[in-house]
Amino acid sequence: MTSPAIHISDLHKSYEDTVALKGVNLTIQDGEFYGLLGPNGAGKTTTIHILTGLVLKNSGVTEIYGKDTVKDFRFTRSQIGIAHQELPIDWFFPIEKLLYFHAGYYGISKHKAKPRVEELLERLGLKDKRTSRLRQLSGGMKRRYQLAKSLVHDPKIIILDEPTAGVDVELRHELWDYLRELHKNGKTILLTTHYIEEAELLCERVGIIDRGQIIKEGSPKDLTKELGKAGINIHMTGWCEELNKALSSFSFTYDDNRLHVTVKEPEADMAKIIQILSHHHCHILNVSVEKSSLEDVFLHLTGKGIN
Ligand code: ADP
Repeated sequence: MTSPAIHISDLHKSYEDTVALKGVNLTIQDGEFYGLLGPNGAGKTTTIHILTGLVLKNSGVTEIYGKDTVKDFRFTRSQIGIAHQELPIDWFFPIEKLLYFHAGYYGISKHKAKPRVEELLERLGLKDKRTSRLRQLSGGMKRRYQLAKSLVHDPKIIILDEPTAGVDVELRHELWDYLRELHKNGKTILLTTHYIEEAELLCERVGIIDRGQIIKEGSPKDLTKELGKAGINIHMTGWCEELNKALSSFSFTYDDNRLHVTVKEPEADMAKIIQILSHHHCHILNVSVEKSSLEDVFLHLTGKGIN
């Protein structure tokens, strides 16, 4: 069996008097799109900085394709491209030059890097800005540059720390489309986020992290099914006493012509509920569905919201 792209076991890290990681366990298979979802301060950045050699761990296993990230740092770092939250300090260079520098760190000559740099400038809408210095770019352009930089050596694993924090809605959707495309082309992607929507829309699997530990993992669909609370709201007339019994397998409230039923899977339960109401000659005026989200899951697990 091939080794997973990323394997972390019992990872611990403290900064002076702050315990940042209390035994993180995480395995991501090659080609997976994984989201580390948690509030600020949960330990997301620390985890990925340890993986990429920017922060020293206290203890635990961190491996990339079965190789230790400390002992085999050359190999493991060559497999990863990281887009940080914060910008590097290369403020005074034109971004095209910076991309060539970055390829050079991985032993790729300017000649060899050229097609890749051109492709990234084009694909990320940076072509017109190639001679602009990093400090002259807008916030959105800086984000695009960060992504281009993480991809210039064509890594197998892409790690993105809050890739869309603070960007406008249009750019967020553009970046999401690009990440989906990278994933479709076989890249393994690990992103950290505190945006529920980002995790739900992009990730095949999500790890919910809080106070230095991953407290739950699963696909967004399975997690919301298991721990979320969805509901069906029905505006209706013709309520009768017998419905209390007929609907007794559901958890529901009825008041002022409005029936609210708490369900796990609205799609599956809706037909059953409507059938029962029709059978009792009720008149349905309106039906709406409240979907549960990973926010509900987080709330259920920790008793607080993510944001
Ligand atoms: P997240 O990325 O989920 O917001 P971080 O990994 O940045 O979380 O932080 C986890 C905890 O470690 C927080 O309490 C944070 O304040 C602390 N921390 C992070 N980096 C440092 C550092 N360099 N020195 C001291 N404490 C830090």
